[in-house]
Amino acid sequence: MNECRRCGNCCKNQSVLITFRDIREIHEYYPDLNILNIITIFEVPRDHKYLTCINQNYPKIRIMEHNQMVQGFLGLKFVINKEGNLICPFYNETTSLCNIHLHKPLICRVYPHRLDDSGDVVWNDAKCIEPWNFSNKLKTKEIRFELRCAKESYAIFSREVEKWNKIYEKKNHDEFLKFILEDKNG
Ligand code: SF4
Ligand code: SF4
Repeated sequence: MNECRRCGNCCKNQSVLITFRDIREIHEYYPDLNILNIITIFEVPRDHKYLTCINQNYPKIRIMEHNQMVQGFLGLKFVINKEGNLICPFYNETTSLCNIHLHKPLICRVYPHRLDDSGDVVWNDAKCIEPWNFSNKLKTKEIRFELRCAKESYAIFSREVEKWNKIYEKKNHDEFLKFILEDKNG
């Protein structure tokens, strides 16, 4: 099997990391959405099993909160559903689909895969109930291509964050958003 079974596990109870480019795309296609309401800066526990992997692709961002510097990873802000699960703000529990499927963040597009150090595609996350069939060469090739493109996007994101982290001290949240929406070149 190689198809997503729409179990929704990947959209619940785990942080959804995002890049500036993801925010620009969401803003472009959903201009009425208040971006500041759906993003957050969060910490990842030191013993998180994917911390090394997260650190490779996602730089820490600095912002000012109540005159204090807060540093962490940029992600989508969870909402709490009736069962008390933390779910992505774009997860549609009625249809078990993503409300922004065509414009979902990079991490959701490549999930549940990543490239290992030798450039091979590996299945990344036991939360996904769909075991990957690596004997499907064509599909594996597609995924490898997507992951390589993603690597370039992460490199651009790191440069953007580096620029932002040099100026964050004098900026408020609105200016943070303005910076993200305007900084298209990394
Ligand atoms: S953006 Fe869509 S695919 Fe990604 S976690 Fe949210 S609901 Fe799931
Ligand atoms: S956890 Fe895997 S099977 Fe379930 S919705 Fe996510 S990608 Fe699909």
